[in-house]
Amino acid sequence: MEFNNDLDFELEDRLVSTLKREEDHEMDQGLRPKFLKDYIGQTKAKEKLEIFLKASQLRGECLDHVLLYGPPGLGKTTLASIIATEMTANIRITSGPAIERPGDLAAILTNLKAGDVLFIDEIHRLNRAVEEILYPAMEDYALDIIVGKGPSARSIRLDLTKFTLIGATTRAGLLTSPLRDRFGIINKLEHYSMEELKLIVIRSAGILNIPIEEEGAEEIALRSRGTPRIANRLLKRIRDYAEVKGDGKITLSTAHKALELLEIDKLGLDKVDQKIIEVIIQNFGGGPVGIDTLAASTGEEKNTIEDVYEPFLLQKGFLSRTPRGRIASVKAYDHFGFSRS
Ligand code: ADP
Repeated sequence: MEFNNDLDFELEDRLVSTLKREEDHEMDQGLRPKFLKDYIGQTKAKEKLEIFLKASQLRGECLDHVLLYGPPGLGKTTLASIIATEMTANIRITSGPAIERPGDLAAILTNLKAGDVLFIDEIHRLNRAVEEILYPAMEDYALDIIVGKGPSARSIRLDLTKFTLIGATTRAGLLTSPLRDRFGIINKLEHYSMEELKLIVIRSAGILNIPIEEEGAEEIALRSRGTPRIANRLLKRIRDYAEVKGDGKITLSTAHKALELLEIDKLGLDKVDQKIIEVIIQNFGGGPVGIDTLAASTGEEKNTIEDVYEPFLLQKGFLSRTPRGRIASVKAYDHFGFSRS
C-alpha cells in the first residue's frame, strides 16, 4: 500500500473511520444479525419493514423495492440480508461502481430467480446508462434491449422474473428523482443511541467469546460515534489490549486505557478529526473554509470528508456549514484546546 503523506496513512489506519476495511469483512460474517428480531435499534425502520414483509408474505408477492439511506456502518447491508432471510429469498450483492456497463446489469437481472433480492450498495454511483436499464426492470420487471445499429435498430422487451431491489446509499440527495421514485419503501437509518450500541457491543462480545463487564461495554459504546461498525472494531482492538495487558476481560479500566493508547477521545474523536478542526482554526482563522480548500489542506478527498468525517463533527456541534464554507464552533475551540483570542 502506498501513502502520499503521513495524514493519508492515518486515514487508512483510522480505527474510528466508518468506511469498511478488510478485517471488517471477516468480522461481519459472524456478527451480522440474521433476523429482524436480533437487529438492535432503528425501531422506526424495523417497525415499517415488519409490516410490509408480513403483508407481502400474506399476499404471496415479493416485497416492494426498498431504499436504505444513512451514513456508512449503520447496518444497511445487514438489514438487506435480513430482509432476504425473512423472505426466505436468495440475495445477490453488488454495488453501483461495480456495474460498469448496461450489459453487466442486464446479465445480473436475467440471472435472478423468482423472488430473489438484488442488493446494490452505493446505488448513487450507478452511471446514467446503467440506471436507465433499472427503470423498466423495477417498474415492469422488463428489460429493454436495443438490437441492431443505425436506422434498423429496434428495441425488444424481455420479461424478467419478479424480484426485490434493495438500494443503499450514504447520499440520498445524489439519487436522481426517477430512480428514487421507483422505490416503494424508503428508510432512513439513524445513528444509534448509547444504550443501543452498548447492547450491540455486549452481543458481539458474546459471539466472539470476549469476557466483558457492563461498564467496559458502555465505555466502548460512548466512543463509537453512534456506529455499530466502529463499536465492533473497537471491541476487537480492546480485546487485544485486555489479553496482552490484563487477564483478557474488558473492564472499564482496560477499555479506558486501551482507548487512550489508541488516541480516541471521550467522544470518539481521533487525530484526524483534530487535524480537520486544526486546519480550519489555525490556517483559516476558524473559517469559513470551502470544502475544496479543506480537502486540499488536509490531503483528503472531498467526498470522504463530506461522507465520513464531517457528519459526526456537524452532529456534535464542532462544525457548522454555511453557504460560504465550514466554520469551527466555540465548542470546537474549547474541546480541542485552542485559544479563542
Ligand atoms: P452499512 O452497510 O450501513 O455500511 P453494515 O450493514 O455493513 O453497514 O454494518 C456494519 C457492522 O455493524 C456489521 O458487522 C454488523 O454486524 C453491525 N451492525 C449494524 N447494524 C446492527 C444492528 N442493528 N445490530 C447489531 N449489529 C449491527
